[in-house]
Amino acid sequence: MAIDATHDPALTSWVASAQAAGADFPIQNLPFGRFRRAGSAEPWRIGVAIGDQVLDLAAAARAGGWSAEVAALLVPLAAGDLNAFMAQGPAPRRALRSALQAALRTGSARQAALAPCLVAQAEVEFSLPCSVHDYTDFYTSVHHATAVGRLFRPDNPLLPNYKWVPIGYHGRASSLVVSGTPIRRPNGQFRLPGAPEGSAPDFGPCRRLDYELELGAYVGRANALGEPVSIGQADEHLFGLGLLNDWSARDLQAWEYQPLGPFLSKNFGSVLSPWIVTMEALEPFRVPFTRPEGDPQPLPYLDSAENRAGGALDIQLQVRIQTAQMRAAGEPAVALMQSNFRDSYWTLAQLIAHHTVNGCNLNPGDLLGSGTLSGPQPGQGGSLLELTGGGKQPITLPNGETRTFVQDGDSIELHAWCEREGVVRIGFGACVGAILPAP
Ligand code: CA
Repeated sequence: MAIDATHDPALTSWVASAQAAGADFPIQNLPFGRFRRAGSAEPWRIGVAIGDQVLDLAAAARAGGWSAEVAALLVPLAAGDLNAFMAQGPAPRRALRSALQAALRTGSARQAALAPCLVAQAEVEFSLPCSVHDYTDFYTSVHHATAVGRLFRPDNPLLPNYKWVPIGYHGRASSLVVSGTPIRRPNGQFRLPGAPEGSAPDFGPCRRLDYELELGAYVGRANALGEPVSIGQADEHLFGLGLLNDWSARDLQAWEYQPLGPFLSKNFGSVLSPWIVTMEALEPFRVPFTRPEGDPQPLPYLDSAENRAGGALDIQLQVRIQTAQMRAAGEPAVALMQSNFRDSYWTLAQLIAHHTVNGCNLNPGDLLGSGTLSGPQPGQGGSLLELTGGGKQPITLPNGETRTFVQDGDSIELHAWCEREGVVRIGFGACVGAILPAP
């Protein structure tokens, strides 16, 4: 992959909102989502975000005027099937990106034909952008792993395998939901602090409900069972990235996680942002992958010159909260923390190479969660567990409310964006999720 004409900062769109200051969706971005008009029974279809609009690819396909190659690429997209397009790998994706950009750029002769294919984002509802059949959640932030490890195992925070093997577990795809979908507080088993050894656990609504700030990487091209993807080929199997809030019930988790890892503490709902930002759009934001002095270098199957030169991504991440009281007072969400994906201990290419090294097959639309993306500084915890020292140091919000964990009615927003000198800023849109009372 490389920087090409589609990243030209001088490019503008005839959709004026694409040039708005701080816009997430300039013409250099063009992320994919699945939508319909809000409240309608229309079939879901695939769209591309441009400014504050969605370009409806079903309508755009009907409008005609595309090359034979691009018209063929639009067929599954017009039918609402992003997975079929994802499966084709990067070359068709680049061809469509280039064609859509030519059609949307200022001065394009296609403006009159395509303007009626735009729908305001404010007037649509989203589904998950693609079908996700398998979901793996990794643990790529060494800062998160160390901070959480310290809370669960003060004497032994970072387990000895961490710096050698990308840690992950198989999550549950059925409870992945799109941004805006509220989640009920889960009921479950937990042990109250100070409960005598050997006593029965308590049961009831989770008391330590938390979010996790994550990125979700979507697989594009599949690999066959038994055929590993080398780190050199890994980028050809990545489609793009979205935001992921992995709601977590900490009290359930502490009681259930040994010896097989998280289960009901994680699978009651995880929220995805509606847009998938493609790997092409992220290309200008690649940065070198490095290891701290004294840390082991990755094993050969997780190492390549290309990965060292540009395997990491400079993506700014932010968590915001809006409590029910703030919402009632008309107050906007406030930031709780900010971090950057470049501080991840493993790159996306390493996650793909590791996930498949044993022959495991990945399919189009499979989701690889990054794990909670905490930064190196205090205050950069990607979860409340970290920001409140395990629930011991409450956070005070600007309106005077305090939080140790998420309360009913709280809405958590994840945001992400990339910016660099000489390149047009791109954003991910928001990933929003609110908590409802336990059933
Ligand atoms: Ca997680």
